[in-house]
Amino acid sequence: MTTVTSTHDRAGSAPEAAALHEIVEGVFAWVQPDGTWWINNAGAVSGPDGTIVVDTCATEVRTRRFLAAVGAATGDAPLTMAVNTHLHGDHTYGNSLLPSSTVLIGHEAMREGLLADPIIDGCPPVWQPVPDWGQVTRRVPSVVLRSDLTLFTGSRRVDLLHPGHPAHTTGDVVAWLPEERVLFTGDLIFHGVTPLVFMGSVEGAIASLGWLADFGADHVVPGHGPLIDGAALPGVLADVERYLQLVLRTARTGLEEGLTPFEAAQRCDLGEFAAWPDAERLVLNLHRAYADAAGRPFDLMAAIGDAVRYNGGPMASAV
Ligand SMILES: [Zn+2]
Repeated sequence: MTTVTSTHDRAGSAPEAAALHEIVEGVFAWVQPDGTWWINNAGAVSGPDGTIVVDTCATEVRTRRFLAAVGAATGDAPLTMAVNTHLHGDHTYGNSLLPSSTVLIGHEAMREGLLADPIIDGCPPVWQPVPDWGQVTRRVPSVVLRSDLTLFTGSRRVDLLHPGHPAHTTGDVVAWLPEERVLFTGDLIFHGVTPLVFMGSVEGAIASLGWLADFGADHVVPGHGPLIDGAALPGVLADVERYLQLVLRTARTGLEEGLTPFEAAQRCDLGEFAAWPDAERLVLNLHRAYADAAGRPFDLMAAIGDAVRYNGGPMASAV
């Protein structure tokens, strides 16, 4: 595990490349290029009663930059509430850098998942360079939801909604501003980056795409990749769906032919999706599709080991 076959543009994905975008007055997206492993998007919604934060970042350095930018844009208004869209560390490890007074909210399954997550305690050498989270500690929500919850800052409304089934993970939540028609999707959308559904469900992720479309959003903040306007959303959702259908087809054929997920991945022609970063996620997604189709338990460490093998070495990280 010494050869790194996939590389990133180091300057293009450095912490300094991240920027705060004001989508509509007082509603912000923190977009971190290039959106690959551990490089997420986050956001903030300001209002008369303080700021509501949507996700944090993977590392201390990245989260401090994000929170400083939000403070500068909002006159250091208090961060009254924060929501985690799902459990993954790129969206949650910075939670402990929020003020202790910030009420942290997430799905019930998200809270359980972050409590059980071992990677914050020491990242295995399956990414290169091995991420250094900095001075962060595990902080989980003190308020959980199972289907929906509505937050207000003044009269500005933020609806937190769970799709009702596993998709990217088992505890996904979107943040929807019905007045401003802004949707923070978390990792239900990867934009121009290979989708990852190994801790959720391939079929559930496909079903969530129609659910996302039905919001009729004008502005969409994906979990990874550039912002999406309402007119471009159908095309982005169609791209993600075609990729996920390819995963399902590859798993079906592989099971019929008695192939392992790794063998099925090797035989799969990614075609139009080969240019997306993090192509090795195909292996992880196939492990999930196999487990669900065959009623087998999902083996996380076997899946990650196969992804590294498919990649020809540790997966590239750009934390
Ligand atoms: Zn995620």
